[in-house]
Amino acid sequence: MSTTTPEIRIPADLLPADGRFCCGPSKVRPEAVAALAAEADEYLGTSHRKPTVQFMVSRLRNAVAEMFALPDGYEVLLGNGGTTAFWDALSFGAIDDRSHHLVFGEFSGKFAEVTRSAPHLGEPSTAKAEPGSAPALAAVAGADAYCLTHNETSTGVAVTPSRPEGADEGALVLVDATSAAGGLRFDAADTDVYYFAPQKCFASDGGLWLAACSPAAIERIERIAASDRWAPASLDLGIALENSRKDQTYNTPALATIFLAVQQAEWVNQNGGLGFAAGRCAESARTVYEWADAAEHATPFVTDPDLRSQVVATIDLVDDVDATLVAAVLRANGILDTESYRKLGRNQLRFALFPAIDAADVAALTQCVDHVVAELRSA
Ligand SMILES: *Cc1c(COP(=O)(O)O)cnc(C)c1O
Repeated sequence: MSTTTPEIRIPADLLPADGRFCCGPSKVRPEAVAALAAEADEYLGTSHRKPTVQFMVSRLRNAVAEMFALPDGYEVLLGNGGTTAFWDALSFGAIDDRSHHLVFGEFSGKFAEVTRSAPHLGEPSTAKAEPGSAPALAAVAGADAYCLTHNETSTGVAVTPSRPEGADEGALVLVDATSAAGGLRFDAADTDVYYFAPQKCFASDGGLWLAACSPAAIERIERIAASDRWAPASLDLGIALENSRKDQTYNTPALATIFLAVQQAEWVNQNGGLGFAAGRCAESARTVYEWADAAEHATPFVTDPDLRSQVVATIDLVDDVDATLVAAVLRANGILDTESYRKLGRNQLRFALFPAIDAADVAALTQCVDHVVAELRSA
């Protein structure tokens, strides 16, 4: 398909101050980048086994614990490979035999596929829902791990993590919070492993995973690590636990990623914590959904307002307006990455509403969309 992008210039006074609306990697605050540049000479290019970097890792682990108000005994683990590698790590080191998955989009589906194809695990069960909605969480006899996604980035559906009533004794709740962590409220006591990568709400870069683990999860990790189940060392959660406790990773991490994540987490904590971050996202969400509800040419894709994500907005456009063209015109005007999730295949725009993004910029974005739609129609 070769459509040329129409020459539409958005008036400068409509444009957002910052044009980054990607759902990951997402906008990094300029203040964080400046802080990195200021400390680069003593930090970048130094050993991750020495105090300077270890102190940065400890700041990150502490800031995450503070932001999530982790109950006593919870520990923050980290390692390399991002969320996708962490799914493999969970399959080796946190699931005993059978997992149960809520599947309602691309990412939740991928994790279910990881456990389904793992030869050392039993057949997982799944509860599925169509994109744009979410399945109910119900206990399944024999399941030792419940796998939920706090925010389905591919569809813009968010659910509240919870423990299934009547689950087997000792079953763990594993929450993929990659695009939710640091932007949506939750109760850590309702989760055993709340994991994410920092290129979304944490306004950093990719390649790292972080996981807030309950005492029950730590016990499970230690028991499996001591068993005769084989795990590749880079995905071994027992090894990750040992290294995390020393404020290190098993192999070399990206130092800039850790630094930028600390900047974001401490910025959030200094301004009031998770409530502050979630409040910023909620304001952006109100702006975008009120606009889409009112606009003749736009509709929120997620019909149930309770499921509408406050960190990722998915907005359908009417048939006579090609969302691909709108996103291309926005891109040509410096407003980036508003395309919908490729595999969803809808006439849709998708915007990140992460805490680093200003609600005023989201408001400006909606006006830019209105402008582009009007211009395309009058062409
Ligand atoms: C982005 C994302 C992932 C993938 O993260 P990587 O760090 O790229 O592996 C997984 N799950 C969710 C919910 C995501 O938003």
